[in-house]
Amino acid sequence: MARVFNFSAGPAALPEEVLQQAAAEMLDWHGCGQSVMEMSHRGKEFMAIAAAAEADLRELMAIPANYKVLFLQGGASLQFEMIPQNLLRGKGTADYVHTGEWAKKAIKAAKAFGKVNVVATAEDKAFTYAPAQATWKLDPNAAYVHYTGNETIGGVEFNWIPETGDVPLVCDMSSNILSRPVDVSKFGLIYAGAQKNIGPAGLTIVIVRDDLIGQGQPAPTTMMDYKTHADADSMYNTPPTYGIYIAGLVFQRLKRMGGLAAAEAANVAKANLLYDYLDSTDFYKNPVAKGDRSRMNVPFTLKDAALDEEFLKGAKAAGMVQLKGHRSVGGMRASIYNAMPIEGVQALVAYMKAFAAAKG
Ligand SMILES: *Cc1c(COP(=O)(O)O)cnc(C)c1O
Repeated sequence: MARVFNFSAGPAALPEEVLQQAAAEMLDWHGCGQSVMEMSHRGKEFMAIAAAAEADLRELMAIPANYKVLFLQGGASLQFEMIPQNLLRGKGTADYVHTGEWAKKAIKAAKAFGKVNVVATAEDKAFTYAPAQATWKLDPNAAYVHYTGNETIGGVEFNWIPETGDVPLVCDMSSNILSRPVDVSKFGLIYAGAQKNIGPAGLTIVIVRDDLIGQGQPAPTTMMDYKTHADADSMYNTPPTYGIYIAGLVFQRLKRMGGLAAAEAANVAKANLLYDYLDSTDFYKNPVAKGDRSRMNVPFTLKDAALDEEFLKGAKAAGMVQLKGHRSVGGMRASIYNAMPIEGVQALVAYMKAFAAAKG
């Protein structure tokens, strides 16, 4: 069976070579006679897999030594709750930037643990832009500043890293981690669910600066405390072993490709191809401010929403799936993470052109 181009926002496409390697190693990983899924997380084989995955991620992102990398579960949504419990540190208030659906959920979750100060919002323009830093009303006494690096639903991405001085900066990078190089030292904490740009659902990566660990007031319960997981090298309880293994294969592939600078160049080429076409026609429209357009998630509408179903049906027949937009915004959304080859975007643009020519 031919593989489709999968434009899903998440769980999303994985690189074919990673799936092939996993398939080849499925029954017998490196001669040990078992699948990675069946291994003890405390055995030497899996410990080596986890250690290599962490080392490769550290190398790819140039993560400084004073940051811990945690392999957790619970998705980014659990981080919406762990972050305030660990990082408020008795300070009572945290600053949040409101850029759309995911920021909204992070804000709502944090309110259970302290006062949330919404320091900037893009609500005035239906969350179609990233508010400029000059408009943020930061509180110098806030425990931390939280923002959503890429709004997966709205298709809005920060192309810059906010400056927050001594106040730790926290970023939800669920849908753009590993898509470009970032200076990790600018952040107090970075988190991402794996199922967009890393690996299978069930693994969540947290990169947290040492001095922010173990400072929760009141101390979070055991599983909610970063200290528990940091002290145990993410092996306090059973970690999502297979997810860590696949993530490790994805990291190795990124290294072979030339690291995050090469990934960024590929992502820029893909995004430009799609946006340049969108801007060249009246048949399709992307609502996001040009400088804030996401390289990962590209929402667009058709001139006539009555054509949506036919567009999706034709796309599926041509081997392109999961293009339906999020129910909250409608229209279409093409998610073009690292694993989407440029051929997928070329095929999409060719299909869009033909559809517009036939219907326009
Ligand atoms: C998908 C997503 C989430 C939610 O992730 P879960 O792993 O399902 O909890 C949060 N933030 C962003 C930016 C996302 O894309």
